Amino acid sequence: MNNTLLKEKVIQNDAHIKRATSEIMALKKRIDKMKSNSYRTVDIKICRKCHKEYNENANFNWSCRTHQSDFGGVMWWCCGRKNKEDPGCKFSRHESGNDPDHNNNEHHGEQINFDDLL
Ligand SMILES: [Zn+2]
Ligand SMILES: [Zn+2]
Repeated sequence: MNNTLLKEKVIQNDAHIKRATSEIMALKKRIDKMKSNSYRTVDIKICRKCHKEYNENANFNWSCRTHQSDFGGVMWWCCGRKNKEDPGCKFSRHESGNDPDHNNNEHHGEQINFDDLL
């Protein structure tokens, strides 16, 4: 029997397992970091103009497409497109519907009391 060889093999295996475990731990840490990073950078909002989901980090002056006029049943009167689903002819940035700054200005501004006017 070669006991020393067996012992060496066991020690080797142990080292392998330890290394693999630490590698898994490092990988887990990296995945966690990636997850928290992606949560921070991806900021999905709904546009109040076109009602589409958009990413605030990819919101450019041409990202939001709306029509300047109404759909008249046959076509868009602004650009003559025939389908209601056709992309808009007016390019702009997406605007989020629930912008807290805007809402505060609108609702907490000075209000006119009509009783005072009469
Ligand atoms: Zn149009
Ligand atoms: Zn939009």
